[in-house]
Order: sequence, then C-alpha cells, then structure tokens
Amino acid sequence: MSDDTEPTKPETARLFFALWPDAPTCARLDEAGRRLHEICGGRRTRAETIHLTLAFLGDVDLARIDELLLLAGEIQAPAFAFRLTHSGWWQHNRIAWIAPDETPLELARLVDGLKQRLGSAGFRLEARPFVPHVTLLRKANCNKEVLPSEVIEWRAGDFVLVRSVLSERGAAYEVIGHWPLLHGNNDKLREN
Ligand code: ATP
Ligand code: MG
Repeated sequence: MSDDTEPTKPETARLFFALWPDAPTCARLDEAGRRLHEICGGRRTRAETIHLTLAFLGDVDLARIDELLLLAGEIQAPAFAFRLTHSGWWQHNRIAWIAPDETPLELARLVDGLKQRLGSAGFRLEARPFVPHVTLLRKANCNKEVLPSEVIEWRAGDFVLVRSVLSERGAAYEVIGHWPLLHGNNDKLREN
C-alpha cells in the first residue's frame, strides 16, 4: 500500500529583532524619507514600518518562537539615545537610508548580546558585520546627489521581535514580542 501523503513542511516565520521608533521619532524619519524621495525617487518605506534592524533571523520554525521569546527576555541592556545624522545610498540594492555617524556603544552591545545568545541557541545568523541604518527608500537612485543632512534623535527604550510577511505591496510586519531596555543613568543623550 502506498503512502501518498506529502511530507509536511515545517511551518516557519520570517523574523527579525529591531528597534521601533516612537511616534514623534517615526514622524521625523518619515519626513526625512519624504525629503530623500524628492531627490532620489523610488518607493518610500511606509511610516508604520520604519525600523532599525538589530538581527535578521530569516525563516524560523514556529516551534522555536517560544525559545526566542525566552532568550530575548534574558537580555539586560540599558536604554540609550542616539542621533541619526547621515543619509546615504547603496547602489547594489538601491536602498537609501539614514544612520548614525558612528554605531553607539550601547547599540553595538545590544546587538552583540542578542547575537551571542542566538548563536549559542543554534540560530543561524549572518556573518556580515552590523551596519545600523533605517531604510527610507527602495529602488532609489541617489547617484551623485548631495543628500540632505538631518539630526533625528532616537530614544531607544525597548526592542522588538517582528514577523515579516512579504508580498508585492512590500513587507507587512507584526510585532510578536517586545522587551524594555533598562533605565538608569545611561539614557541621557550623549553631549557632542
Ligand atoms: P522587502 O524585502 O519586501 O523589500 P523588507 O526588506 O522590509 O521588505 P524583509 O526582507 O522581511 O522585509 O526584512 C526585514 C528586515 O530585515 C529589513 O530591515 C531588512 O533590511 C532586514 N534584512 C532582510 N534580509 C536581511 C539579511 N539577509 N541580513 C540582514 N538584514 C536583513
Ligand atoms: Mg528585504
């Protein structure tokens, strides 16, 4: 007797950890995206999806999501503030973005902490170094253009785990976990 049932594919979700801006910060980032769009064209990131990716996991078995939620809950990292000042464009993927001039130490430590835990738990991660940026345009062309300077302050008080569902309209995101960053004396914007 033959068994004609298909082997069941493990169900997966496309996941990433991110910083999500609060409403005023999101509005400023959206406005910066509008200015950049006037110069470079392309497709703007919808305001409700603006974020800064901390660690991209790709497809994860649904059965492992609880493990991820526990692992993220073990992170003890301080809240911090930083400034996005630097707009740029990558020719290879035609993404225009805004970024801090330098990676804030607290941000680098948060990402390292996450990556270490994820790596120890056997989640597959990119070997590429972390380059913090907020994608504002896709399919953009900013070649040879002078991009506007901005100063956008971002107070990071938590981080999130997000499920991304890709479609022709662009990715739809669903926040499936969020964790506070700890408030102490470290959350003042560093003086320049
Ligand atoms: P779309 O792919 O439809 O343009 P998107 O890039 O926003 O939408 P995803 O591809 O699901 O949606 O990516 C979610 C987040 O993870 C984005 O911030 C994206 O830049 C980042 N990301 C995606 N792939 C990788 C990767 N291989 N390495 C690092 N970050 C990634
Ligand atoms: Mg993508």
